[in-house]
Amino acid sequence: MTVAYPHLLAPLDLGFTTLKNRVLMGSMHTGLEDSRKHVSRLAAYFAERARGGVGLIVTGGVAPNIAGWTKPLAGTLATHSAARRHKPIPDAVHAEGGKIALQILHTGRYGYHPFAVAPSPIKSPISPFAPHGLSASGIERQIQAFVRCSLLAQEAGYDGAEIMGSEGYFINQFLSLHTNKRKDEWGGDYANRMRLPVEIITRVREAVGRSFIIIYRLSMLDLIPDGSSWDEIVLLAKAVEKAGATIINTGIGWHEARVPTIATSVPRGAFAWVTRKMKGEVGIPLVTTNRINTPEVAEQLLADGYADMISMARPLLADAEFVNKAAAGQAERINTCIACNQACLDHAFKNKIASCLVNPRACHETELNYAPATSPKRIAVVGAGPAGLAASTVLAGRGHKVDLFDAASEIGGQFNMAKKVPGKEEFEETLRYFRSHIRTTGVQLKLGHRVSAEELIGTKYDAEILATGVTPSDPKIRGQDHPMVLSYIDVLRNAKSVGKRVAVIGAGGIGFDISEFLVSEGHSPTLDLQAWLAEWGVGDPATTRGGLKRPEISAPARKVTLLQRKDAKPGAGLGKTTGWIHRSALKMKQVEMLAGVNYDGIDDRGLHISFGEKKEKPTLIEVDNIVLCTGQEPLRELEGPLKAAGISVHLIGGADVAAELDAKRAIDQGSRLAARL
Ligand code: FAD
Ligand code: NAP
Ligand code: SF4
Repeated sequence: MTVAYPHLLAPLDLGFTTLKNRVLMGSMHTGLEDSRKHVSRLAAYFAERARGGVGLIVTGGVAPNIAGWTKPLAGTLATHSAARRHKPIPDAVHAEGGKIALQILHTGRYGYHPFAVAPSPIKSPISPFAPHGLSASGIERQIQAFVRCSLLAQEAGYDGAEIMGSEGYFINQFLSLHTNKRKDEWGGDYANRMRLPVEIITRVREAVGRSFIIIYRLSMLDLIPDGSSWDEIVLLAKAVEKAGATIINTGIGWHEARVPTIATSVPRGAFAWVTRKMKGEVGIPLVTTNRINTPEVAEQLLADGYADMISMARPLLADAEFVNKAAAGQAERINTCIACNQACLDHAFKNKIASCLVNPRACHETELNYAPATSPKRIAVVGAGPAGLAASTVLAGRGHKVDLFDAASEIGGQFNMAKKVPGKEEFEETLRYFRSHIRTTGVQLKLGHRVSAEELIGTKYDAEILATGVTPSDPKIRGQDHPMVLSYIDVLRNAKSVGKRVAVIGAGGIGFDISEFLVSEGHSPTLDLQAWLAEWGVGDPATTRGGLKRPEISAPARKVTLLQRKDAKPGAGLGKTTGWIHRSALKMKQVEMLAGVNYDGIDDRGLHISFGEKKEKPTLIEVDNIVLCTGQEPLRELEGPLKAAGISVHLIGGADVAAELDAKRAIDQGSRLAARL
């Protein structure tokens, strides 16, 4: 029998233990780590991933002491009683035949609390708290905390520990002159600056013995000024190996870096070349990471010798069964992570429990379950956008008989427009997943079928779900009937031609996406790694410290002006961890962003605007086209007649509430309704 992904599914012998395959579930903060009451949820979450076939799981970051907290009262492992509390987590993973390592995360100056410590008292740009500079004895206490935490992890039953040495956290802060200004034996030349990680690994290995996995996460590309040079990185890797690490994992970019490293617009496997540079320099296994989200990409990287293991974090939030489905040769059934960050990282940064836009069960395994229906019903779902797709497949998966209608000739609703935006190509993967899921769950799909109220009234369904989405709202701007005025639907769905000078009205998510589409028409750097690296100024750390060089930006395809009425920063409402990327991308393409605008009218000359309540600075923006991206209203014309006929309907997604609608809410609402019916 041929193995579907022979390199990815090959065991990895670590000498004292063997991992069943090359998939490492990378560390992800879920928020569940931070509360004692969530231990059983965390155990269920990891157990599901172990059952799904992951070779080695790494937990979200746990602090070795208070100084290392991410935020006040963050998850900490510093006492025997805390080790006892952790025990159900490795136990649950072992019961499913998996292996799990605890990530020890000391945040240093990234700590969002007043007890933060660092090699030097230099505030980071991403925390309001200036850290305390450590004395030599203070450094010794941090090392002891790492050792104690590793021993407690072993006591709790973990198979190993990952020592977080990258992403600009505490250990990384010692390595770089950017953050380490010390004059003692912990600062100055590189031999001194790398003393801390080497000392930590040496002493942890001495403490835990030989049969405990030690992963060191090594920053191989800092992406900050004064970051490490390649020679330094190799020197450190060799020292880390000698000190007793079992595996080296790759870290890319400090958190304060201004280069995107995991967002959806980052090309798949964009940084695997960095790990490949390290191959041959050390003898222990190397893990590569960042934007690897399909078994095909992972297999190819291993087959081409980029690394010995693949780290995937978000892809395993999106689908706990990733490995088992790949092993069964059913990759088309994998619910692929689209790297949107909307329910995982954005939640973590907002102090909310993480989940997944495409899989709302992630981190909710104990409360959101799709149990078989006790009395199967006949259910109509109208609208095959994200809400209707989620609802219909969950319902059919539970044993209901489901008819799913859409007026369009393809499933997906607005996702069919989203996937045309350069950098959002991944959105097609969600549609591919649903196409396959519709087949396997037995949903009866009826495309090209606009449902009327009469039809539903005349057919005997036990329940009707309206997932009919939204319709663009009318901004009522004088002159908006002018032929130069288009809607985002005209541009993205109907492919209407657009001139060289464009005003985009409305700077919400869609206004930003349309602007991106218009400036980069025909070329998506996300599908062209070299162009993407050049545009974001990413270079080889062997020739440029930290891997930063001058960006090479290609000319925009059009002159775009993006406008909004609010007097706030355009894009302020975009995703917490991705908004800055959208803003930077448009700035690179010289998009002019105007806020506090009044739309005074449209005529043959263009768009007339003024600013503020007093209508100051009347200005004419001479353009060939104006694209309206001014928000949406629910489309639920079927609701009234059905209610009048005595049929109660369920509204989900945009058909329910259009304001602040996104696919996260649409899928979550559809899935939760379908779990209940
Ligand atoms: P829709 O996707 O609008 O689907 C409704 C479906 O119902 C349509 O297919 C329609 O044909 C069908 N329908 C309507 N009436 C009938 C009828 N009578 N009979 C049969 N069928 C009918 N969201 C995010 O979370 N992240 C993003 O990055 C993102 N980017 C976007 C980019 C663009 C360019 C656009 C346009 C949207 C984006 N969105 C994004 C928004 C997201 O796509 C929507 O929130 C989501 O699609 C809403 O899902 P829905 O199922 O409620 O409605
Ligand atoms: P939106 O985010 O609500 O933005 C609508 C924009 O139109 C705002 O800039 C608003 O700003 C403006 N506007 C509203 N009414 C107007 C009027 N009468 N006249 C002129 N301007 C008006 O909605 P959207 O851009 O249509 O996006 C729809 C949903 O899709 C959003 O909720 C979003 O979450 C989701 N989406 C998400 C992403 C993402 O990357 N996460 C991308 C695309 C879409 P002013 O009122 O200040 O002018
Ligand atoms: Fe991936 Fe988005 Fe899910 Fe996060 S929320 S795991 S980025 S699909």
